[in-house]
Amino acid sequence: MIDITNCNMCARHCGIDRTQKKGFCRIDDNLYISTICIHKGEEPVLTGEKGVCNVFFDHCTLQCEYCQNYQISCNLYDMGKDRMSLEECYIQIARILDTGCNMLGFVSPTPYAHIIENLAEMLAKNSYHPIIIYNTNGYDSVETIRSMKDIVDVYLPDYKYGSYELAKDLSKAENYPDAALDAIKEMVRQKGTALKLDENGLATSGVIVRHLVLPGQVENSKSALLNLATEISTDIPISLMSQYYPTYHADKYPEMSRKITSEEYAEVAHFMFSLGFDNGWTQEPESSECYKPDFTEEKVFK
Ligand code: SF4
Repeated sequence: MIDITNCNMCARHCGIDRTQKKGFCRIDDNLYISTICIHKGEEPVLTGEKGVCNVFFDHCTLQCEYCQNYQISCNLYDMGKDRMSLEECYIQIARILDTGCNMLGFVSPTPYAHIIENLAEMLAKNSYHPIIIYNTNGYDSVETIRSMKDIVDVYLPDYKYGSYELAKDLSKAENYPDAALDAIKEMVRQKGTALKLDENGLATSGVIVRHLVLPGQVENSKSALLNLATEISTDIPISLMSQYYPTYHADKYPEMSRKITSEEYAEVAHFMFSLGFDNGWTQEPESSECYKPDFTEEKVFK
């Protein structure tokens, strides 16, 4: 049972009453959405030809210094203009599902998990049964993931850090390596390690873990992959991402002010395969150009 009057929805465990005050994520008890749009994203089993109807929520439980979505994830910006009623959100989603898209992704969903429960109920009542994707930074409480058991079809968590120090410096979340691992374990407990696909090759159930390789941080990537291999399983699909580009506050850190090199990416990919991971996806080294969102534009992804 999710209780926003004692909010422990993410691994920050602020324990505050969100009807009265704001915690780290600065989200009260309202719904704030930047954009609801079709996104043809990274993993082909999720996007297919028609893409994913992605709901981009405002603010975030992490504050990564290099966040590619900083325009909407930064907890300092005023999100008043993005306040949306549940009904309006439902209408916008239904409009997109009516075009034939059957994948519905919630991006940075955790502080809004109680609202996702209501939305899923409204959609089902009106005969919409999309595949629901929980696209999260991984910094979730196990209780929240448990509460999503009968709602979510595919979990799409990041596993960003094996290094506590890096998690602290770059995302203000020193406990990330352990907390995210616990959340992913619960996802795998619910869905198993095998990705289920339909006749068109689209995912219907499972867990896909995303890991973004950061410049100068090959050891962090190796340690994250090692954690996943030893604590979960090498059967789990990994989406190994090369699309980092310096943005937001990245220029505060000299080593973060560049893209990753093809050598760095190859070293991490080689390590991943050597551990035994052989389900999932790798990216082309220059893929950062393909995934630059601009949330100030009507068309977010070019
Ligand atoms: S969602 Fe996380 S950051 Fe936001 S108030 Fe709850 S525990 Fe704190």
